[in-house]
Amino acid sequence: MAVRKILRIGHPLLRQKSEEVPVTEIRSSEIKKLIRDMYDSMESADGIGLAAPQIGVLKRVVVVGFYRTDRYPELKDGIERRILINPEIEVLDSPEVGFWEGCLSVPDMRGYVERKRKIRLKFYDEKEEFHDEIIEGFDAVVYQHECDHLNGILYVDRLKDPNLFGYNDELDMADRSAGKEPAQVV
Ligand code: ZN
Repeated sequence: MAVRKILRIGHPLLRQKSEEVPVTEIRSSEIKKLIRDMYDSMESADGIGLAAPQIGVLKRVVVVGFYRTDRYPELKDGIERRILINPEIEVLDSPEVGFWEGCLSVPDMRGYVERKRKIRLKFYDEKEEFHDEIIEGFDAVVYQHECDHLNGILYVDRLKDPNLFGYNDELDMADRSAGKEPAQVV
């Protein structure tokens, strides 16, 4: 088990573009170790997705998925565990959906972001198999957030309104005093 430090916003590596993994290296011990470290780091931070640059490795690798965590009690079955290598997103003509997003690189904060509801996602998995899928809804939002990291983009760059962003505890208090339930975070 190797839990690596997760870089926080302000670290310059989070703003770099990551490099593709040559297909012949997908099953290398280096990539296997990277994927293990990413899962260990993500799970110990109770996240649902992590991109390699968040642990300082500029490679186009993303892991998503969890079974259940206290942070997302409403997602009873979690989202499927997947490893995406060299993912490519094609935005399909579709309406946007808004979610409050959080990020392990922007801890304790959340912001409201709108993204495409439906995408086409192409990627290699860790067994070097190629996938080409249509993905919708919550999962599509998670994949768009994680793939943005590979291009040096953070969700704060996509805020719908700067007022809809802040520390979780402040926003929770504001929601409660307005008589609302605190927002759930992606
Ligand atoms: Zn993130």
